[in-house]
Amino acid sequence: MPDVVIVGSIGIDAIKTPFGTAKDILGGSAIYASFAASFSASAGVISVKGNDLADSELEFLRKRNVDLRGVQSKGKNFRWSGEYEYDMNEAKTISTELNSISGFTPVIPEEYKKAKYLFLANIDPAIQIEAMEAMEAPKLVVLDTMNLWISTKKELLLKVIKKTNILILNESEARQLFKTPNIVKAAKYALSLGPWAVIIKKGEDGALLFTEKEVFSCPGYPLENVVDPTGCGDSFGGAFIGNYSKTKNLRKAIVYAAIIASFNAEGFGLSNLQKISKTDIKNRLAEMQKIRKF
Ligand code: AMP
Repeated sequence: MPDVVIVGSIGIDAIKTPFGTAKDILGGSAIYASFAASFSASAGVISVKGNDLADSELEFLRKRNVDLRGVQSKGKNFRWSGEYEYDMNEAKTISTELNSISGFTPVIPEEYKKAKYLFLANIDPAIQIEAMEAMEAPKLVVLDTMNLWISTKKELLLKVIKKTNILILNESEARQLFKTPNIVKAAKYALSLGPWAVIIKKGEDGALLFTEKEVFSCPGYPLENVVDPTGCGDSFGGAFIGNYSKTKNLRKAIVYAAIIASFNAEGFGLSNLQKISKTDIKNRLAEMQKIRKF
């Protein structure tokens, strides 16, 4: 049984940043999240890919102990293209072709059903809710989403939020969803719906954690070369749940997630995450500790 089950998209992405372009590269929330989780825990993926994406393209995940028995194959792959301007904090979506994601019904392998940790990464909330209901009794459900689902499926998304333990949003999504410019108000509103913790990501500025009892501020790791932030949110979520499943420490898991996301931003797609070692992560965590000491 995997430590963590991750529901999300498998994408073929086209990305443009001020520093270059990448076409037809593997992406999707489930890909980034499961790879990031695999630094700490074993992950099982629930997703759908197109028949035009060869199984061999996912082999690198299997090598990292990522279980792909919950990945179905049908039709054409989901495709996303996005662009970043000099402010690299937010992607502008150029096009989204849902393809295999539309009408996708997740089938949860028996081996996944008893997993204790569930990450509902960014995908249609209808798929998130179906997957959640098919799991037996996850101890912790973490949810991420994006502006497309907030504007097209808000009611359903709110239903998922009510059944979620930890909600992760970036600041513009929090403002959009809760109709307030104020992040603290948005977090309080989110807490009143059901989750016991809300994490608001602030791009290069780190993340804020809100619970009924505490507020924690995680700094962003100061990066000199941001190449492509695509997947930073997904890798943050995957690294967070993977680390939390082992440490049970919210603050540590958030800082760990911010570090993994920072590595992700240093290359196009998954390229830099695929290069790093546990020592690189340890060193960056130690630097982060120095940065926030006073
Ligand atoms: P992030 O930069 O963390 O928000 O994630 C970007 C990744 O999410 C890309 O690899 C896309 O393939 C994927 N993605 C973009 N839009 C959607 C969507 N509407 N649903 C699911 N995944 C998406």
